Amino acid sequence: MALAYIGLGSNLENPVAQVRQALDELGGLPLSSLVAQSSLYATPPLGPQDQPDFINAVAVIKTALSPLAMLDQLQALEQRHRRQRLRHWGPRTLDLDLLLYGQQTIERPRLRVPHPHMHERAFVLVPLAEVSAAAAEQPLMLHQQTLDQWLTQLDHSAIKRISNAEAPKSVTVTATS
Ligand code: ATP
Ligand code: CA
Ligand code: CA
Repeated sequence: MALAYIGLGSNLENPVAQVRQALDELGGLPLSSLVAQSSLYATPPLGPQDQPDFINAVAVIKTALSPLAMLDQLQALEQRHRRQRLRHWGPRTLDLDLLLYGQQTIERPRLRVPHPHMHERAFVLVPLAEVSAAAAEQPLMLHQQTLDQWLTQLDHSAIKRISNAEAPKSVTVTATS
């Protein structure tokens, strides 16, 4: 079993509900269980600014799936949420990135772990810091620096934690099977 850290993001079609639904679905993946989930955060978009703010979160999953099998599952979940790839870093109903998989480093065309941009992104590191204390036995290291060291180098003033009370109740997700 390995600990996998998943970054979630959405800025279309009721993003809070998309992310809440996805957190539930991640807990139901085969050979896997949800260990921890962060709060939800409202964050300004990366890249094109003519799109809504994002909702982001991080989940920690204990899994016996291989990294590539986990990526397959994440991409299948994005499809269930009707993810469309229209433009780079454009708006999306659901983005699921495999941030970390145990201590592994993976450099494949389909999968790079640790996620190559995670240490530059406050919208990833803020929720990651929230869950890593609960899930990790020792402080997470990225490129020879701790999470806290990366965080002090990033402006995270625009990352707003969302209280549970603001969460809508449901989202419609179409199953493909
Ligand atoms: P970014 O990766 O910069 O956050 P993005 O999430 O918008 O951008 P996508 O369009 O969702 O990018 O994914 C593009 C490709 O990235 C996918 O087809 C997938 O195979 C590949 N990929 C490589 N490493 C990872 C990873 N760690 N997690 C998820 N996808 C990955
Ligand atoms: Ca992403
Ligand atoms: Ca992605």
